[in-house]
Amino acid sequence: MAVPYGRKSRTKSRTQRAANMRYTPKAYTHCSKCGEAKAPHHICGSCGHYAGRQVIQVVEE
Ligand SMILES: [Zn+2]
Repeated sequence: MAVPYGRKSRTKSRTQRAANMRYTPKAYTHCSKCGEAKAPHHICGSCGHYAGRQVIQVVEE
């Protein structure tokens, strides 16, 4: 059975741990109808369009 050559330093394990918690920017696109930023493959929150057609009615206040 393989045995570790030496003890990993505190910095080395903490660096690896921090690398796993690294920030990854969230993907988003713009609505083709109103140009508002929206998540890909989701209905637009401001106009209710998806795939070029009206899917939900957005209540305006
Ligand atoms: Zn829209």
